[in-house]
Amino acid sequence: MAAGPAQDTVQNKPTAQEHRRQCLCEVCNSGSESTDHLILHCSFATQFWAAIGVEISGTASVSTLWELQRPPTVPDAFYSTYLLLCSWQLWKHRHDVVFRGLEPSLPRLLLSCKEEARLWSCRLPRADRLVAEAWCAPFSFNM
Ligand SMILES: [Zn+2]
Repeated sequence: MAAGPAQDTVQNKPTAQEHRRQCLCEVCNSGSESTDHLILHCSFATQFWAAIGVEISGTASVSTLWELQRPPTVPDAFYSTYLLLCSWQLWKHRHDVVFRGLEPSLPRLLLSCKEEARLWSCRLPRADRLVAEAWCAPFSFNM
């Protein structure tokens, strides 16, 4: 029996075991699994950062995450916390894709960021809780 195109695609898709052996990113099927790739340069990560208005240059690194240009809609106060929240949600989203078999989904990631921002707002000083509301705007605007 001849193999059809769909069967060829499935057979040619690298298995999770092959990904790990080649250290390929399991979200975009290219790029090595470096920290910089997973958080900043993966095609899915770049889509996410672009959606929330954070520009990622080709030389950006996680070691200099704090130097990323702040979008005008995100308050200066607690900006590093905002970047941590985004990075943490990207990591958790990747975990769901790799270990739970979910498809990458920008709307799902943005929704989880928004929910997490609401939770994290409880850890901010009472006078600064509106900062987290401002964080939610780019997550909501782009869903
Ligand atoms: Zn990738």
